[in-house]
Amino acid sequence: MTSKNNIKKQHRILAIRRNYLIKKIKREIESVSYPVNIQTGDIADNAINSMNEDFTIIIAREEENELRQIEEAMQKIENGHYEICENCGANIDPKRLKAIPYTTLCKGCKELEEKEAFLLN
Ligand SMILES: [Zn+2]
Repeated sequence: MTSKNNIKKQHRILAIRRNYLIKKIKREIESVSYPVNIQTGDIADNAINSMNEDFTIIIAREEENELRQIEEAMQKIENGHYEICENCGANIDPKRLKAIPYTTLCKGCKELEEKEAFLLN
């Protein structure tokens, strides 16, 4: 069982990560919407520009996904459900929570989920 102090610490870590991601995503979105100068660039330049844009959008999406998970984890801490696996209701290993502060599944369920995702692909 994770102690109250450790959970408080996890909450702080999540809050710091959340603030960092919010700022980063905001910057990335701003950089993408920056107007590309079509008149001066040749076709190759434009292709590179749009590739970079796509890449930035993909990163921003992944970060948004992480941000959502972080917010859910913070909510779980506030509700006192932080250590409970969403799938089977077992306690999540504190070491696992330390490694991945926003995980919602215990190790067994996560492995099962990954196996299923692998089979589906
Ligand atoms: Zn589980």
